[in-house]
Amino acid sequence: MTRLIFLGPPGAGKGTQAQILAEHLHIPHISTGDILRQAMKEQTPLGIKAQGYVDSGELVPDQLVQDLVEERLDQSDAKSGWILDGFPRKVTQAAFLEELLQKIGQGGERVVNLDAPDDVVVTRLLSRGRKDDTEEVIRRRLEIYRNDTAPLIDYYSDRQKLLTINGDQSQEDVTHELKKTLGS
Ligand code: AMP
Repeated sequence: MTRLIFLGPPGAGKGTQAQILAEHLHIPHISTGDILRQAMKEQTPLGIKAQGYVDSGELVPDQLVQDLVEERLDQSDAKSGWILDGFPRKVTQAAFLEELLQKIGQGGERVVNLDAPDDVVVTRLLSRGRKDDTEEVIRRRLEIYRNDTAPLIDYYSDRQKLLTINGDQSQEDVTHELKKTLGS
């Protein structure tokens, strides 16, 4: 049973690696960013509420993403494991997740910290061309990462759940290192 949380700055390759690994392990890749973007595209109530935050690079309110994750982890395909990508993004969300996983009996999660230097992630993001990949929004997302998300590295390290992978190498090398580290 594999339950993984992917942590790391925007542009570190979390989405790509999470997708590859999820396919390899036959478990769902659960990206809160993807779910929010889909909801925005469909203009669902969730999408409408999230739009302004996502477009400007701000975090959407905890309650919205927490409800979304709780609902998603309750679906049948998540019973055999999952990879969470983009959640949790701050300590309050991590505390929520810890409690949720205990409540639904889905423990044993490990956290992959996919790290890469700022200049590398900025270059990657600028070449990606997503709507929230303008220079100003990227700067804001990196700032939020440093202030709100990076503290999760210590949070999970203290709980002995953290694995660190060097994201500053080719996509293939990161995948290889990941599989080796996870023993899969
Ligand atoms: P991502 O695709 O993970 O880069 O997420 C894109 C955007 O979705 C972020 O900049 C936030 O606006 C929003 N988002 C995704 N996950 C979360 C989360 N866990 N908490 C708050 N906002 C989130």
